[in-house]
Amino acid sequence: MKVLITGAAGFLGSHLCDRFLAEGHQVVGMDNFITGHPDNIAHLFGRGDFSFVRHDVTNFIYVEGPLDGVLHFASPASPVDYLEQPIPTLKVGSLGTHKALGLAKAKGARFLLASTSEVYGDPLVHPQPESYWGHVNPVGPRGVYDEAKRFAEAMTMAYHRFHGVETRIVRIFNTYGPRMRPGDGRVVSNFIVQALRGEPLSVYGDGSQTRSFCYVDDLVEGIFRLFHSDRVDPTNIGNPIEFTVQQLADQVLEMIPGTGSVVQRHPLPEDDPKVRRPDITLAREVLGWEPRVPLREGLERTIPHFRTLVERHDLSARTL
Ligand code: NAD
Ligand code: UDP
Repeated sequence: MKVLITGAAGFLGSHLCDRFLAEGHQVVGMDNFITGHPDNIAHLFGRGDFSFVRHDVTNFIYVEGPLDGVLHFASPASPVDYLEQPIPTLKVGSLGTHKALGLAKAKGARFLLASTSEVYGDPLVHPQPESYWGHVNPVGPRGVYDEAKRFAEAMTMAYHRFHGVETRIVRIFNTYGPRMRPGDGRVVSNFIVQALRGEPLSVYGDGSQTRSFCYVDDLVEGIFRLFHSDRVDPTNIGNPIEFTVQQLADQVLEMIPGTGSVVQRHPLPEDDPKVRRPDITLAREVLGWEPRVPLREGLERTIPHFRTLVERHDLSARTL
């Protein structure tokens, strides 16, 4: 198979490139580097089965020759990034998804959309099953990301129903691992980088809000299975073990001792979801998938990546 991966130079896109290549497929990566970096795919350059196109996918996408799959991962994903880039975020979720679907239709390729747990907003149902329609503030600051992804899901289903494109939608819950940028701004990278630098850990609010953290290898396995399955309706992929943000801070401080870091409270950002945890019954039943890497083990695999970057390049975390 030959697949196009948009957002290939990002955190998840680069891991997906590795996975498809490891399975013997050909990969075309595409990215405009708005939040990604060529370092994430530098190890792939020069391979005969990988090519890369620098392109903003909100513009017409041209790929030469046949294509069997389009995996649309391009989009800022960290709240710090999408609050700084609200209009590019809305455009890549709407116009970019339209272009990527148009390409899939023209090539007769299967399309997979990277959607998000943010479609559930600040949820009133907990844990969140796929059947929950969500509780999103469309005009709040996070609306630029949440509504772009909700539109992207609607567009994907319309291309499936109206044009008969084979589509898949993955709703990804908070994922972490190597290749996140030190300045990405999401909670796991912030806490690790702050602890390594001996700086205070920036806990927003009282730290009682919850998230359920999935290690990147588990996520990629779930996405790979979903892509090859025949499930059209959205599917949650995430780790159902829930932690408060304070518990995450404590865990990171325990694993990176001796730098003198403490916790420092910051104001809670507007519309920050109070709880989040995936109901993965469907992924278990339909894909035979469930996560295998517990938080401690995932952090053990992630910390060395940040340690190298922080020591070599003096890079810091980024807070709201
Ligand atoms: P990331 O910021 O590391 O990667 C996104 C990539 O998309 C970057 O390389 C960026 O340069 C590229 N991009 C953005 N706009 C583009 C455009 N117009 N044209 C071409 N490239 C563009 O983020 P990530 O964590 O790897 O997220 C990847 C996808 O997964 C996103 O669609 C995100 O919404 C989704 N997602 C991620 C998570 C998570 O926990 N990591 C959770 C839910 C959803
Ligand atoms: N958060 C925090 N400190 C940080 C970054 C994030 O306390 O430096 C909190 C944030 O308020 C949210 C949770 O951690 O409740 C997860 O935030 P993240 O930015 O990782 O992603 P989100 O799940 O909000 O999209």
